[in-house]
Amino acid sequence: MEKITATSLCLFLLIGLGQKAGAQDTVGQLLKDAGKDIILDPTTYIPNGVYFTAKKLDWDSSQVFFRNGYVEENSDYTISGKAKDIFETEDPNIFRAYFRDSATAFNAQKKGEIQNKGKVNATISGIIFKLLEENGIKTHFIKQISDNELLIKKVKIVPLEVIVRNIAAGSLCKRLGIKEGKVLKEPIVEFSYKNDELGDPLLTRAYIKTALEVADDKLLDQITALTLKANEIFKEFFLKVGIKVVDFKLEYGIDKNGELLLADELSPDNYRFWDAKTNEKLDKDRFRQDLGNVEGAYQEMLKRVKEGAQTATNHKSQPKSQQLFNVKVQVLPKRDILDPQGQAVEKALLSLGYKDIKDLNIGKEIVFKVNSASKTSAEQQVKEMCEKLLANPVIEDYKIEVI
Ligand code: C5P
Repeated sequence: MEKITATSLCLFLLIGLGQKAGAQDTVGQLLKDAGKDIILDPTTYIPNGVYFTAKKLDWDSSQVFFRNGYVEENSDYTISGKAKDIFETEDPNIFRAYFRDSATAFNAQKKGEIQNKGKVNATISGIIFKLLEENGIKTHFIKQISDNELLIKKVKIVPLEVIVRNIAAGSLCKRLGIKEGKVLKEPIVEFSYKNDELGDPLLTRAYIKTALEVADDKLLDQITALTLKANEIFKEFFLKVGIKVVDFKLEYGIDKNGELLLADELSPDNYRFWDAKTNEKLDKDRFRQDLGNVEGAYQEMLKRVKEGAQTATNHKSQPKSQQLFNVKVQVLPKRDILDPQGQAVEKALLSLGYKDIKDLNIGKEIVFKVNSASKTSAEQQVKEMCEKLLANPVIEDYKIEVI
């Protein structure tokens, strides 16, 4: 696989590219002269530079990076996505993700710019990644280091787009002729192949396991469980700020320790968000469908996400009010366990003439009160007590009643 190497880049080193518009032609010509049959993707500009994605069919894709009008020989530039640039840092296991304002839709057939999208998406992603971490879902997020930038752990991306749908919209409606807005009986998790050239085709498990061989059953089960858990966290968080989570796309990666981490970004670019009262669309569909006020929708989502994060912080810092619950625990020997006390009593009853009894078991009933934040947490606490002390789970069954 051929790459534009530092040596070939030297050819173009220190070539002034004063005019951005002319830059693409200049670079194109230089690459041609150097015998490279290269298609330059439309240029993307970042604050202090300009880059080109140079594509050739037998290449993955290579980047030629210019900053302040010069080719950088020792550029720290690494990978360019449709909306983010990923840079290496001094630590080989950490990347810096720069969120751009550029927007694409329909597999990059539609391109444009959404003002301040980079800042909005970096900030929303940072907040939501943190929310997931606090709820036990491991992600590649380390911290937000500027308006547009996140520090992230380096991962090898599993080339799957994991899509969750709570309400019918987008490609589901197109594919199945379903009306947009149909609330699905339960969330649907589907997988697409992360491959722009093929248009991210929808996959079956067999395609993933046997044809592509990019994940096995164990990994797919793990990804599905984490994704459904994330969906519950999202739905609860967003509903509190008046937003319905219609659908979204997640990506996962494997880190250097072989750990599965939720990766990519979590923003209005890859969720569908509807206002819970009005069903107003507050996501990239405004750009896809030319609905107008795209920037306003992104800003509104940022405002609501910040509100949600603030409420969660206030909630955490307030001591939870406790309630007193009455608890009754019944402990009985398991059916297949010898119960000498029960047998003795059964025998005695038989000798007293009570011939119609059998399978007599003797257990115990334990009653007490417990202070807890909720009935669920009280039940959880009592369950722990049973496992540790009140019952012997190897030979005894227990039943908990909390009132
Ligand atoms: O287009 P479709 O209805 O399949 O999209 C479902 C969800 O996945 C939407 O929230 C969309 O924003 C997201 N998605 C994405 N990137 C893709 C495809 C879909 O973020 N390449």
